[in-house]
Amino acid sequence: MLVPVSGNPPVQPEITVDNKSYVSLEQHLCVVCATPFDTGSILLDRRLHASMRRHTTTGWGLCPEHQRLHSEGFVALVECDPQRSGALSGDGQMKPEQAYRTGLLAHLRREAFTRVFNVEITADQPVVFVEPGVIEQLQARVAPKD
Ligand SMILES: [Zn+2]
Repeated sequence: MLVPVSGNPPVQPEITVDNKSYVSLEQHLCVVCATPFDTGSILLDRRLHASMRRHTTTGWGLCPEHQRLHSEGFVALVECDPQRSGALSGDGQMKPEQAYRTGLLAHLRREAFTRVFNVEITADQPVVFVEPGVIEQLQARVAPKD
């Protein structure tokens, strides 16, 4: 049973103003490449107010391409500028929203990552933020010697 709430107009207008709507396609930002992608979910304003834009970014995830690489056993190295990135949190992990990406990316198999950096990486960690120069050094190390 619906109980009318005082103060609300009984009928919501069908038109939307300022390109806003009470439905919105949910998007996540890829934690690797920072590209927004559709999650396939639809958000609905529970009061049916035209409160949302066409797309709403609700969090971080992996875009289809980087999800595939992650599930194939790769870890993404994302180069960040420490001068412009936020402080590291207590556990030494940078939050994705604090990372200032330089745009340089590399993918490395998890076993290779462990061998090169001597750091264990869990299978559910898709991304590692690295300082400038790390990817360059890595490319020099794995490049053919001839
Ligand atoms: Zn991506």
